[in-house]
Formats: sequence, C-alpha cells, structure tokens
Amino acid sequence: MNISIIGSGYVGLVSGACFAELGNQVICADNDTKKIRDLKKGILPIYEPGLEELIIKNLKNQRLKFTSSIKDAVGASEIIFIAVGTPALKNGEADLTGIENVACSIAVNMNSYRLIVEKSTVPVETCAWIKKTITTYVKKNHKFDVVSNPEFLREGSAINDFTHPDRIVLGVETVRAKQIMTKLYRPLNRPILVTDIKSAELIKHASNAFLATKISFINAVARICDRVGADVKEVAEGMGLDNRIGRYFLHAGLGYGGSCFPKDLDAFITIAEKLGYDFEILKAVRNTNEDQKRFIIQKIKDALWIVKGKLITVLGLAFKPNTDDLRNAPSFDLIKALIQEGARIKVYDPEAMEKAKKILKGVIFCKDAYQAARGADCLIVATEWNEFKELDFVRLKKTLKRALVIDGRNIYDSQQLKKLGFTYIGVGQGNG
Ligand code: NAD
Repeated sequence: MNISIIGSGYVGLVSGACFAELGNQVICADNDTKKIRDLKKGILPIYEPGLEELIIKNLKNQRLKFTSSIKDAVGASEIIFIAVGTPALKNGEADLTGIENVACSIAVNMNSYRLIVEKSTVPVETCAWIKKTITTYVKKNHKFDVVSNPEFLREGSAINDFTHPDRIVLGVETVRAKQIMTKLYRPLNRPILVTDIKSAELIKHASNAFLATKISFINAVARICDRVGADVKEVAEGMGLDNRIGRYFLHAGLGYGGSCFPKDLDAFITIAEKLGYDFEILKAVRNTNEDQKRFIIQKIKDALWIVKGKLITVLGLAFKPNTDDLRNAPSFDLIKALIQEGARIKVYDPEAMEKAKKILKGVIFCKDAYQAARGADCLIVATEWNEFKELDFVRLKKTLKRALVIDGRNIYDSQQLKKLGFTYIGVGQGNG
C-alpha cells in the first residue's frame, strides 16, 4: 500500500520504517528540512535500538523515502498518517497547531480519495475537528475518511512494540476505512479492536493516565515503606503477582517523565474539565509525581547534610533507558535543584550526552560512569540503564570521595552495597 507519514519523530519514523519493512511504499515527511536532509543520508535524529538499520535497509530497497514537501507526500499516497507532536500548552491543554496545519495541507493537496489516520496522541473529538477542517479547505470535494489509530509504542523498545502490539486500536466510521486499515495491519497478526472514533481517542488517554496512576500509586506506597522499614520492591512483587494488578509499572523511583505521560495527563485533565468533569484522581496522580521528585531531593539533602560545594555524580539523563529522549526527564529536575543548592554536578548517560550538551548547562559531562564518579561525594542513579546495573562497585569505592549511593531507580541490592561499605539509600526500602 502507498502510505505517507507526516511527522518524522519517534512515532513517525518507527511507524514508517516498520510499514516499509512489511512491504509497503512509505514516504515520511517533516517540516524540519535539516532532519529530512539527514534522514535521506541515513542519519537519524534520535536513538532508538534497531531503527537505524531498518531505515537504511528500506532506504536502499526504495520502500522508504523522505521529503520535506507535505504536498508531495499527500499527492502520492492514499493513506496519510498524522504523527506530529502534540506538546502541552502552559494551561495543560494539548497544542494541536501541528495537527491543524497538517489537516489544512492535506485538504489543499489531496487529488483523490484519502484516508487520514490520526496517530498522534490527541484529546477526544480531535478527529472530528480534523474532519471539519478538511471539509472546509478541500478542493473539488474529494472524498476522504478519518481514522483514529492511537500508538502505544514505548521508546527504547519501539520497533518490537510496533510490530508486536498487545492490541491495535482502530476508531473508524466507515466500512471503507475499516477495510483499508485492517488490511494494512493484518500482516502483524495481532488483536485488532475496532471502535467508534471517540472511543479510540479516549482509549489512548485513558491508558496512559492509568499507567501513570500505577506509578504514582507505588511511589505513594514507597513513602509508607520508608516510614515503617518495609521494602517496596517486595510489596510491588506481591501485588504484581495478582493477575488483576499485573507487575508492570509498579517500580518506585524518581517518578515518571518523558514526552507522553506528563503532557497526556495534563491534556486528559484539561479536556475532562472542559467537558464539565473534575478528574480528581488524575490530579492526585500528577501531584504525587511532582512530590516524588521533591522527596528524592530531600533524601539527598538529608544524606549529605550540606549540599553547597559538594560534587555529585548523576548517572542517567534520559527519561528512561534505551532512549536519548530528554523531554521531561526527572534527572533534569534533580540536577537543577542540586545546582540551585550550590552543588557541582558530573553526569554520564550512555546515549543522551549529545542532546544533553545542547540544553543542560553548568554540569561536567563525563565519558563513563567511573570518570563521573571520580572525587564525588555522592552517586545518584537517575535512569536504570543496564550498564549501571553492572558497575564495578569495588572500583567505584576507590574513586568516589564518599561511598554514598542514592539509588533513584532501586536497581541495586542494598545488602551487597552495604557489605562493600557503601551507604545505600533507595526509594521505599526503609532507609530514607
Ligand atoms: P516528535 O517530537 O519526536 O516528532 C514530531 C515530528 O513532527 C517532529 O519531527 C516535527 O518536526 C514534526 N512536525 C511538527 N509539526 C509538523 C508539521 N506541521 N508538518 C510536518 N511535520 C511536523 O514526537 P513523537 O514523540 O514522535 O510524538 C508524536 C505524537 O505521538 C505525539 O502526539 C505523542 O504524544 C504521540 N506518541 C508518542 C510516543 C513516544 O513514545 N514518543 C508514543 C505514543 C504516542
């Protein structure tokens, strides 16, 4: 099938590369001309495991193309995915300017029937607005359908998530749209849930909000664990073994971040408010998350006594492992708060250093964890990269000025570190 994807970021590139790999002809478009110039040469703007190989392979066999001309993309393909960013405005609402721009471009450039697929995460009723916009600006009354097809991939495992999703959600309102979309996704051989458009839009917001709720819930339980000397890892395991609860998203830590949860939660709360419903649970989830970041900073202060003048190592900058995405990374809140207190900060991240150097000022960037730890009064883990799980703590002890580990992601065995002579402080492990 001929597909165009407008917006070549994490979602657009992964979707485009995977659809091409399935044998479709795909054009990925973006209004960032430098990004497109680089992509044409096989240079990726993001780190995502396996994506570079997939893009280069499909560029070579000419199933995947890149363009900065939305007009060309719209002209060439029957199916057009919208995968542009939908960041949060100051008031929490989703900024849908990009969606509207793309809808207008589609309207003026389509030359026959088009199926417009909304893949960006958007508030309920956005597809209705896309439809209205296209109807307003379309020339010659060409027919079109709009579909909501929310994306559930996670950065860091995006290709596998895209090709092996738990479910594919299709919000449709015509038989034609349903047929085209089910044909497109059939090769994946995964469960397809077909709903009306508004329900599909809500499935995405409700799913992300629920996952964020699980994280805030376990972080709140961790606070109780700290107070009574229980271990949140064991509590989470005991809860997660119950199939009704499940073990995913029950890891206490620095709180959630990234480009999705914070903004999607804000957008869901705001759209609910507009619809006359006060989504109190989600407000509590958001507050708990913010409070969790402050709580970890307090733990650090309590351990160091005086923060001013201390040299602190922060391992991990990306909001989660296996990505270089720094959007709303909890590490940044931590670092900013510590700098404000007068600390000097050394940082290391396996993949996010290049991006971080452009936006994070006043820190020392190091080539590895050991260099970052040299002479430091405290080592903090902010992202649970695998390579941090395998650090040589005997070597680290020799290089640190003080053997103090603040494990913001609960990745270490506290007993082992204590045996080696470290002071270990985790989250919800009865030691804080
Ligand atoms: P991104 O910022 O990585 O990519 C968005 C791309 O859209 C950018 O390259 C930008 O240049 C381009 N763009 C913006 N406006 C445009 C326009 N008018 N015309 C053409 N291109 C335009 O964003 P992302 O992380 O890929 O997210 C895209 C959407 O998918 C968001 O709504 C997000 O919430 C949702 N989503 C993201 C993830 C994720 O893990 N990143 C997962 C599921 C859903």
